Amino acid sequence: MRTHKLNERVFLFMDDGHHHENVVVIWTPSGPVVVDSFRFPSQFQAVEEHMRERGCSRPLAQIFTHWHPNHTLGNRNLAGTRVVAQRLTWEFMLGGRLAGQLGQEELQWMQGGGWPGPEDRKVVEKELNLSIGGMSLRLLHVAGHTADSLIVQIPEYRLVIAGDNLVGPEVEFFFPSGPTRKRTPELDGLALVYRHIRLLAPKIVVPGHGWVLPPEEMLSLNEHRLKSVLRRSAEIAQRLLTWSESGGPEGFNEYLIKTWLSQANACVTMDEQEALKESVGRVLNQLGEAFAHGVLRE
Ligand SMILES: [Zn+2]
Repeated sequence: MRTHKLNERVFLFMDDGHHHENVVVIWTPSGPVVVDSFRFPSQFQAVEEHMRERGCSRPLAQIFTHWHPNHTLGNRNLAGTRVVAQRLTWEFMLGGRLAGQLGQEELQWMQGGGWPGPEDRKVVEKELNLSIGGMSLRLLHVAGHTADSLIVQIPEYRLVIAGDNLVGPEVEFFFPSGPTRKRTPELDGLALVYRHIRLLAPKIVVPGHGWVLPPEEMLSLNEHRLKSVLRRSAEIAQRLLTWSESGGPEGFNEYLIKTWLSQANACVTMDEQEALKESVGRVLNQLGEAFAHGVLRE
């Protein structure tokens, strides 16, 4: 676990052992506000120790940048804590989408009422100006990495916590990762999120995974990655189309290729993506192997 004091009030925790996931602790004059929580309590322990050393056993508020389990499940000490999330984040966390991705113990925690649940004024729609502990935080809904993604801005420090809309250079994956995901509204939305963050003119930008970089460097890096992912996806769709028209290469199932192609154009929600992933898993695996063997390299 690496920790970094971003300024006198804001601390970054990054877990090198788990995909460089980040948690941010903001120390208001009245206590800490924690943004995201890792996946496992063993990871979150470092944050708890940090708070305890400063005389706090729990944060004033827990904010989630989006519903993914590696950002929402680490803090199991939420009773009595204000949990702030976007409306869709609550929907995804409590509506079963998350449950499908959890282990037994995680599921038990969740079903046992682990999250206090949404209440009035804890739910973000488009924007929430949160006055807490004597500080002002601005929460903005941006459909980029996921449909429910939030960015957290601390205007007085010109600091932006971007969630997984941005990932640092040491992170080997990109969202949506690799050639096997198709284009989604969120993926197109990412370019707008980058522009949005740029307009906030931040001095510090914290990604969802990976270490901080100067804001412009971080944004350019992610823009470049997005462009190459989109280009690669288009190339693969074209290659699949050619294959399906010619009966498919050896070992490929024409029916599955066609299914993938038609669904790739049609599916927009994450549930549909999950179903797609399952139904054409074989093709995607073979596609991955084709990549590994250089068949699809430029
Ligand atoms: Zn994520």
